[in-house]
Amino acid sequence: MSDFWDDVRQIASEVVAPFKGLATVSAKIAEKKTVIQYPEYRRPMGVRARWRHVLNRYDNGMEKCIGCSLCAGACPANAILVVAAENTDQARFSPGERYAVRYEINMIRCIYCGFCQESCPTGAIQLKDTYELTENSRKDLIYTKQMLLVPDPNRERVE
Ligand code: SF4
Ligand code: SF4
Repeated sequence: MSDFWDDVRQIASEVVAPFKGLATVSAKIAEKKTVIQYPEYRRPMGVRARWRHVLNRYDNGMEKCIGCSLCAGACPANAILVVAAENTDQARFSPGERYAVRYEINMIRCIYCGFCQESCPTGAIQLKDTYELTENSRKDLIYTKQMLLVPDPNRERVE
């Protein structure tokens, strides 16, 4: 007997299911639409958004990167190239002994994991919320130090 009522309940739920679906769709159709006027307006990203990288500077304009290559070592995609050089009294780019004379990120390889940011001892490399990263050419997706470095707040030095 219970099998009979189980079957009845099963059939009833299958009959009702499409109407439930229609009710959900109808409710969604009646909702006010949200239209974002992109690109004039960019939807705010979450605080932990990880997109385009930047290389930060200190307030005095010095580069935070000291060319230690920890970011390159931590990168699971082997996307970072760091070539370090010694600072001198005549040409000082960072507060440490060394700075990155060459710094590149292959954005085609990057998986935006943020390990580079996590491993950086000086807070130099950081993933920001800029997500417009498409280019027409592969070579334009090799981001150089000049492309990554934030502007010097004092506008004293351009490498
Ligand atoms: S976000 Fe991840 S994959 Fe991209 S450069 Fe940094 S460590 Fe490499
Ligand atoms: S970005 Fe940070 S971890 Fe990478 S080389 Fe520069 S200082 Fe080292």
